[in-house]
Amino acid sequence: MNIQWYPGHMTKAKRMMQEDIKLIDIVIELLDARVPLSSRNPDIDTLANNKYRLVLLNKSDLADSAITAKWEEYFKSKGIMTVTINARNGQGMKAITAKVQEACKEKIERDRKRGIMNRPIRAMIVGIPNVGKSTFINSFAKKACTKVGNKPGVTKGKQWIKINKNVELLDTP
Ligand code: GDP
Repeated sequence: MNIQWYPGHMTKAKRMMQEDIKLIDIVIELLDARVPLSSRNPDIDTLANNKYRLVLLNKSDLADSAITAKWEEYFKSKGIMTVTINARNGQGMKAITAKVQEACKEKIERDRKRGIMNRPIRAMIVGIPNVGKSTFINSFAKKACTKVGNKPGVTKGKQWIKINKNVELLDTP
């Protein structure tokens, strides 16, 4: 039997991402720290093929910290930088801007050599529904820019959010 498992909202998000990916430098992928691999969409690797990457292990308050540390090692062994966060209370989030810059350091250096200084890094947030994207963006931007909801799929529309002079976010649900 051929099971149609891929939900419609994911197909739509994938299509939007294919267009938006051209606008950004880095893909910031939000995963659930309790289930980092199964909360991952395998299509992201293909879509974000030539982009810088950062993985955020969110909802760390609900995960076992010893096991989260092992997941951090796992991603590191794959050459993927991670930051472990709690988007709800902001824990761990101070480290993100520096990690984004570290992940994009080749590009920053390239810009610098061409005389382009202080161009903000443009980032896209991706993640499956309910992983905490709205909560993260609100918390990262330190003001209520997007609606946060208790049920999946509350994040709608598209917007750029200026985080600071170094980072701009494209909110792509
Ligand atoms: P989205 O669908 O990806 O935009 O997810 P939301 O931001 O709407 O979050 C879904 C639910 O997860 C909400 O009830 C949030 O309060 C909750 N949530 C988000 N981040 C965290 C976190 O770090 N810890 C905990 N415990 N809950 C979180």
